[in-house]
Amino acid sequence: MTIRRGISGLAPKQDILIIGAGPVGLALALELETLGRRVLVLEAGGTRPVPTRMDIDLAPGARHVEPKLAMAEGLGGTSAWWGGRCVPPDRQDFLEWPIEPDDLERWYERTAEFLGCGPPRFEDGVDPLLHASGAAHFSALERWTRVRELGQAYRARLKGSELIDVRLGVRVASIADIGRLQVSTDEGPAEIAAGTVIVAAGGLASLALLAELPKPSPALGMHYVGHTLGSVADIVFDDPEAGWRASDFWLDGGTWVRRRFTLIDEPGSPNIVFWVDNPAFHDATHRSAILSAVWLALQVPGLGSRLVSEAIRQRHIGSGGDVKAHIANVLRDPFGLARDAVRIVDQRYLQKPRRPGFLIHNKSGRYRLTFHGAQAMRPKNRVTKEGDRLTIHYNFTRDEAVAVVAAHERLDAELQASGMGRLAWHERPDQRIKAVLDQLEDGFHQQGLLRMRSDPATSVVNCDCRLHGHERLYVVGTGVLPTSGQANPTFAACALAIRLAHHVAGSADA
Ligand SMILES: Cc1cc2nc3c(=O)[nH]c(=O)nc-3n(C[C@H](O)[C@H](O)[C@H](O)COP(=O)(O)OP(=O)(O)OC[C@H]3O[C@@H](n4cnc5c(N)ncnc54)[C@H](O)[C@@H]3O)c2cc1C
Repeated sequence: MTIRRGISGLAPKQDILIIGAGPVGLALALELETLGRRVLVLEAGGTRPVPTRMDIDLAPGARHVEPKLAMAEGLGGTSAWWGGRCVPPDRQDFLEWPIEPDDLERWYERTAEFLGCGPPRFEDGVDPLLHASGAAHFSALERWTRVRELGQAYRARLKGSELIDVRLGVRVASIADIGRLQVSTDEGPAEIAAGTVIVAAGGLASLALLAELPKPSPALGMHYVGHTLGSVADIVFDDPEAGWRASDFWLDGGTWVRRRFTLIDEPGSPNIVFWVDNPAFHDATHRSAILSAVWLALQVPGLGSRLVSEAIRQRHIGSGGDVKAHIANVLRDPFGLARDAVRIVDQRYLQKPRRPGFLIHNKSGRYRLTFHGAQAMRPKNRVTKEGDRLTIHYNFTRDEAVAVVAAHERLDAELQASGMGRLAWHERPDQRIKAVLDQLEDGFHQQGLLRMRSDPATSVVNCDCRLHGHERLYVVGTGVLPTSGQANPTFAACALAIRLAHHVAGSADA
């Protein structure tokens, strides 16, 4: 079939219609293709993703990223900007979900194949902590996609597909009647009829469509959750070489992986992970020539935004930085800089798969420790819609920051008990909770908004991702995940999409 702009030449009625060509919409379309089903994919953006054109407001004080930095429109959706970190949910997450771990895990092989992150192996047999009886482990793996921009990666296959028809520049305006879907195109408004409609437009954009239904679900937008993310301590390894080797990226089955520290869950403790990172680029006291050179490069208009997505660029450059001190770092070690720069350019831009990141070796074995954890559900975190505009109410609580600090304390105790190292806090004890709170912000991982559960009063879709009260209208994406866990959500959302493809293809009149 084709990838084409507009809706010319479409049959009057479509069998299966998918809204959105982000990772989730593409996973769904490609899986339906392997099942021999004909699919129409409508995508609001064009060939190259651009920031969302939706009108979205942040309520005063919301700790939410500017949506234009978190939502891309176009073939491949936000995968044009994402990090490409692939992590499955933990088994404990399923305690709050209406499906069993096996319901999703059986699709991990297909999901990992689609995302290009190698075999779905998320545990390493070797744990360098060597402290098996303790609560902390360093054997969990995050895998990185080989094909970050999924729209570009699958473009040729979509173009050559006999069964998938992708139409760009087609924004679905209303799904109130799937027999007469309202769309807007370059040529003006139009209608399309479909037997089955699957909304895969991303968390907030899917919500905007569902809010237009005659009787929107009372749970729509009511359980918004994301993640805690930040850094309040360094890790200091007792054996600097072993610590660095264990923490850096390596190739496993042809894809890059990295270890994460996990804490075995205790009742009431947060689901949180930690990984070993470079010092904050903007803080020149790191005295690293390469980190200062990268920081300077990220400032250069036109260059910085080519190197990383705008949200990641802003995170790296921080809110300040001493240019003179960074230049001094660069001049202090020109040979080290040249060696690191050649290696980074080669591994990150010339080799395939491209290396997702670098842990710059530090002789003293001291590195920044990043945390990434679950966010608790709270009624105040929600998205409302008035007229055409969404408003995001989103914040974090002191309890969440207290739990993050407590998790660091537990990890520190385990590191010391195992003889692996210790944590060095960035702040005095009385400043730590504030330091966590000051960093918390999300909006990259839009979960809970379209909640999946069996009860229509408290959820939007059922465990098949079918909209409550509707026969042939489905919704899939990170937004249906009922809770957040520690895992980045795209892997789970794509696994749900592949599962849904089998459900839809298997149902009698799809
Ligand atoms: C900087 C950054 C880093 C990230 N890193 C990671 C990571 O490392 N790991 C991870 O798991 N997640 C990460 N994410 C999150 C990840 O990008 C999203 O979870 C993922 O893209 C969601 O996929 P999706 O297909 O549901 O939605 P999207 O990627 O948002 O795609 C939705 C598509 O639907 C289209 N659409 C929307 N409304 C309509 C409409 N009305 N009509 C037609 N089309 C429509 C949009 O144009 C878009 O192309 C990151 C996000 C950002 C911004």
